[in-house]
Amino acid sequence: MTQPHLASVPPSSRLMSWLGFRSGDRPQAEAIRAPVAGSALAMREEARHRLLGMISQFVIDHGLEVSGANLTAVHGALSGIDHKLAMAIDARLKAQEPITQEWFDEVTGGDAYANYRAELDTLLNKLETGITSFTKTTQETQSVTGDYRAALEHHVQALKNPEEGVLLGLADLAKAMLERTRQIESDVRRNENEAKSLRKSLAKARRDADIDHLTGLPNRRAFEALLEKHYAEAREGGEPLSVAFCDIDHFKRVNDTHGHDTGDRVIKAIGEALANISGQNCHVARHGGEEFVMLFRGKTTDQALVALDNAREAMSKRRFVNRENEQAIGIVTFSGGLADVFAFPNSRTALKAADGALYKAKEAGRNRICVAENDPNLSVS
Ligand code: GH3
Ligand code: MG
Ligand code: MG
Repeated sequence: MTQPHLASVPPSSRLMSWLGFRSGDRPQAEAIRAPVAGSALAMREEARHRLLGMISQFVIDHGLEVSGANLTAVHGALSGIDHKLAMAIDARLKAQEPITQEWFDEVTGGDAYANYRAELDTLLNKLETGITSFTKTTQETQSVTGDYRAALEHHVQALKNPEEGVLLGLADLAKAMLERTRQIESDVRRNENEAKSLRKSLAKARRDADIDHLTGLPNRRAFEALLEKHYAEAREGGEPLSVAFCDIDHFKRVNDTHGHDTGDRVIKAIGEALANISGQNCHVARHGGEEFVMLFRGKTTDQALVALDNAREAMSKRRFVNRENEQAIGIVTFSGGLADVFAFPNSRTALKAADGALYKAKEAGRNRICVAENDPNLSVS
């Protein structure tokens, strides 16, 4: 078991002092790592508690959102796993500049989740490589033992002369060897089947990693891959591309009044409504919670606005009923923010702009779609 790498963060004075270490405290961090007879477990527990405390304190002190992405990134920085982020934080503290959510998004590539994603990808790739080489080995072994068996079978036939006792003994020996190779072959075949089923599980794990289980829609991770692909293709083909953020209005009230399960069904219904306007070049994904993200390729932003606004309008005319007790939920609406991707330096800044437009739609009274203003610093060709 590895210890938290508390001491592997470089002695970045500001960060260390923010963490509550004085400059002379470093040996203390080393001490946490050094196993002391009888109390190693306790020290490890203490280190884990301290790390957790430091993570939450960091998030609170800097007013960062308590999101999985932030916690993962802060854990990376404070545990020393993400050395680059630790250095960036240290430099920021040195410059006496505030650590804001915006800065944090910027420095973690706008997506602290990426670290987790990269880890998952590495893990899946490693597993795949392992299985591939295993299958290759078993196939090779199988063909070798197959050849061996064929040769033996040939000799056994030739040796079957009842007058020659020695030769008969040899034939028995060869028979035993034949049996053994048959056994090996069957073991190898069984291993190969296991590898096949492992490969199947791996393929399923890959699919699962891309799907949101509640709605069956692609998740944020899969959406990012889709956006990357469509961005490259649309740019290459000179096609328009827009992105949108949609968020259910006053959703907390649905949960509070009708319970979480009913809330889940409402999320599913909105996801289905948005999926109805998606297709080959228009994709919707669940970004998280009651938020959805979309991309429209081949439609101008105005056309995307019409499509999305129609979906919004249709939704606002529906009346929801709690399936469990027939109690009326009433109208459920959503708001959206839309941005023309190529009016921004890249897809990430366009997504941010769409999020900003969503915020405006909320402020303007919800149940509407707002379009982000194009980046004035970017001359659109
Ligand atoms: P606004 O119009 O400003 O978006 O208000 P809101 O109430 O929709 O927004 P807020 O962010 O305050 O609340 C979102 C709620 O969504 C809080 C959270 O408990 C709930 N939520 C997040 N994920 C899920 C989920 O998977 N299922 C259910 N049922 N609720 C969820
Ligand atoms: Mg929300
Ligand atoms: Mg909401």
